[in-house]
Order: sequence, then structure tokens, then C-alpha cells
Amino acid sequence: MPNRSAQYDIVIVGAGPAGLASACAAAETVSTVAVVDETPWLGGQIWRGSKTRATNSQARKWLEHFRQTKAIVLDRTMVFASPKAGVLLAERDEKPLRIHFKKLILATGARELFLPFPGWTLPGVLGPGGLQSVAKNGWPVAGKRIVIAGSGPLLLAVAVGLKRLGATIVSISEQASQSRVTRFALCLSRYPAKIWQGIQLKLQLTGIPYRYGVWPVRAEGDQQIQRVILTDGQNTWTERCDFLACGFGLVPNVELPLALGCELKDGFVWVDSNQATNVPNIYCAGEPAGIGGADCALVEGQIAGYAATNNNSKAQALFACRASWHRFRAALADTFALRPELKFLATDETLLCRCEDVTLGRIRQFNGWRDAKLQTRCGMGACQGRICGAASKVVFGWCMESVRPPVLPALVGSLVSQSAESAERTEHKESIPTVPDAPSRSTDRQPALNPVTES
Ligand SMILES: Cc1cc2nc3c(=O)[nH]c(=O)nc-3n(C[C@H](O)[C@H](O)[C@H](O)COP(=O)(O)OP(=O)(O)OC[C@H]3O[C@@H](n4cnc5c(N)ncnc54)[C@H](O)[C@@H]3O)c2cc1C
Repeated sequence: MPNRSAQYDIVIVGAGPAGLASACAAAETVSTVAVVDETPWLGGQIWRGSKTRATNSQARKWLEHFRQTKAIVLDRTMVFASPKAGVLLAERDEKPLRIHFKKLILATGARELFLPFPGWTLPGVLGPGGLQSVAKNGWPVAGKRIVIAGSGPLLLAVAVGLKRLGATIVSISEQASQSRVTRFALCLSRYPAKIWQGIQLKLQLTGIPYRYGVWPVRAEGDQQIQRVILTDGQNTWTERCDFLACGFGLVPNVELPLALGCELKDGFVWVDSNQATNVPNIYCAGEPAGIGGADCALVEGQIAGYAATNNNSKAQALFACRASWHRFRAALADTFALRPELKFLATDETLLCRCEDVTLGRIRQFNGWRDAKLQTRCGMGACQGRICGAASKVVFGWCMESVRPPVLPALVGSLVSQSAESAERTEHKESIPTVPDAPSRSTDRQPALNPVTES
């Protein structure tokens, strides 16, 4: 099988706010910067689809700034392994691609946290971000009754988005208590833009019940969700709905950093003041290093980009701004910390691993994630433990001890190329591909295959 390869000075995995800001900073001094993302768009989760409809001024500013750089975009390119230092293995157009780098910035973002409760696998129960995403891409929600539940500021943003698309938002239930959320609102006085954002969201949701200290205990329906049972810990009641959008905050995407040998601290990638990880020449910015929102991701991304290109004074000039967003990040974590009751929603019959059909009752017989995985195949399905592993961490306090490639589902052909790479590594010293000529920058940022060479 021909091996496609490309080489860049700086490679950034993730084209969300952190990745784009890293690229803008790095491209000030380094000529070959590549941004790799598995999606076809720039902007990550928050600005997805902004190429054609950048409604938000921050998105417009950063996407425009990025387009002025000579950074190369490898979109629809999913990084799934790193066979040796300085090399990533990716899949692009269903073919393997080796990406060589001198320095790497990991900006892999986060995903939603789902917790099991009876009925959580019924069609129509989705994550708020997931429902927002499919709805933005055309899935019809107009006229549908949607209950939104879980935790975090994302619930409000999603409610507004779905309402604009014609959905009827039945209610929004935040598991955090009113006193915590009020304390958080008071601390926002240091972030006027956030207060303004919050007020705008609330105004657009006038008339829709927003309840604190409320969470779902069960979803019911025949073929599809028809109702959800909610509680405030004392009373329970039923709300009729076509969709339940339920997510309990975000979980960092640390699988690729772990596969590259990066250390974690409290579940996030450990970084120093320059956003450098413990692995030489590897940096990390944005949500894998802490869930702090887009502003925090942007400043961390810039610091990583400057530090990776030895532009230390510019990196240091941003430290105070980052410290402020880190205080915001800590307030978010404190406010939306999950209440203990959420660990006990699922019964023994509830599926915990929905890919491999393993119930919570089976999994609870084991002492840890590795044991449970070996004995039941939980976490070995298509999501590779992204859903049930994160849920097990909350329900049982178990930690993912290690990851094995592929960190994302990859085609057999790509996996074969990975094995070939490992074999080659033990038999020969492989010659590093030469740096290709700088590709002409595509104005619409469509896939830039020109920097990829075939051998
Ligand atoms: C589903 C979802 C919806 C959200 N919606 C909103 C919203 O409406 N409003 C809001 O304020 N915040 C929202 N957030 C939170 C927001 O995304 C973050 O606060 C912020 O964007 C973080 O930026 P980031 O650059 O760290 O990560 P992200 O924006 O998540 O970007 C990470 C990028 O890395 C790419 N990636 C990850 N791993 C790989 C890999 N192995 N190979 C290739 N590419 C990879 C992903 O495709 C993604 O584009 C949402 C989060 C999620 C998970």
C-alpha cells in the first residue's frame, strides 16, 4: 500500500478556537504550520459551520485572522495513533497518512458527558450539543417538544439555538443548585462580556421554565422517547416530549495526548506555563487541559503557538489574561460540580456500555475499568469507551489507566499501515520525507492535499 506522508514544522491537531489561535500565533514566525481536523469545517464545536454563516463576531474575527495566515488545513483528517516520536498516523479520504512534525500542539477539545439512567438509550435522547449539531445540519426540530436537562452553560445556548429553529422548549433543568449558580453569576462581574451573553440568552428564553437543582431520573416511550420523569430530590413529575437533550457538562478528549505519552493531572493534560506537556516538543491548549470555554481556549492556544515557535515574550504577555480565564474555569468547575445523586440513577438493568450491550449490574461486579473491560467487553465498541468510560468514572470513580491505538475508529487499511510502520521501525531506520514545497494557499480552505506526498 502506498504510504502518503507530509511534514510540517508545527502540526496542530484540532481546528477549534484553541487550534486556530495556536496556528495564528505560530504562523507569525514559522513557515510550515498545518492544522489537522477530522471535521470538514474550521471552528471546532462552538463555531462549526461558521464558514458560511459566521454569526458571532469573535468567530468572524478569528476565522478571518486564520485565513490571512499561510497555515495549511488538513480537514477531514482524523489522527488515530502515533507510532513513534515526531510522527502522527491519520486517515484522510479513507487512506492512511503519516504526518511528521517538529513540534505538535494538541487542541483536541472535549465531548459531552452522558450519565446512564433508565431509558437513556431510547431514540430521541441525545446530548444537547449533539442535538444542536444535527439540528443545525438540517435534522427537523421545528414543532418538536424538547426537554433540556443536565448541567452547564451549554444548556442555555442550545435551548436558544433549538428555539430559533422552531422547536418548543418545554423546560430546562440544571442539576446545580440555585445558590451555586447565583454565586457564579456574581463572579461574572469580572467578565462583562459573559454577563451580557448570559442576559441575552435568558431574554431569548423568557417564559420557558428554567429550574435549578432538578435532574432526569427516567425516560419512557415505546419505540422513541415520549416522556421524561424529572425530580428535585423531593418531588418527581413527568414532562411529555419528543426529544430529551441531556448532558452533564464536558469531558476532555485526552486519548490522543495519552497515546503520545502526555501526563494527566486530575483528568486533564498537565501543562507548564508555556502550555508545554511533559513530552518534549508537544504542547496542549484548550479543553484537554481544562474545561474553560472558548475565551480560555483562545488565549491558551495563542500561548502554545508562541511558545512552540520560541516567541517567548509574546507568550508571556498573555499570561495575565490566561490567569483571569483560569479563575473563570475554576468557577465553572465549582458551580457545575455534579451532585452525588446522579451516580445512582441507573439500575442494574440499565445499559452502561451501549456499544457492547453491557449492563451496569454486570460492570459493578468488577474492581476497576481494566477488569470490567477484560471480562465484559465494555468500552471495546465503536466509541472505545468515550461514553461508558467517562460515565464509569462518575458512577464508580474508575479511571482510564491507558489508551491503545487507534484512539478513534480507523479503517483496517489504516491499521495495517500502522503495523507496517511499527515493523519497519524495528527493521530499518526510516528515512524522513523531505519537507514539501509550500503549497499555494487555497482561499476557500478546502482540503489541501498538495502538501501530501505519496511514496
Ligand atoms: C458538542 C459540543 C457543542 C458545543 N456547543 C457550544 C456552544 O454552542 N456554545 C458554546 O459556548 N460552547 C459550546 N461548546 C463548548 C466549546 O466547544 C468549547 O468551550 C470551546 O470551543 C473549546 O475549544 P477547543 O478549541 O478547546 O475545542 P473544540 O472546539 O472542541 O475543537 C477541537 C477540535 O479537535 C478536533 N479533533 C479532536 N480529536 C481529533 C483527532 N484525533 N483528529 C483530528 N481532529 C481531532 C475536533 O474535530 C474539533 O474540531 C460545545 C462543546 C461540545 C462538545
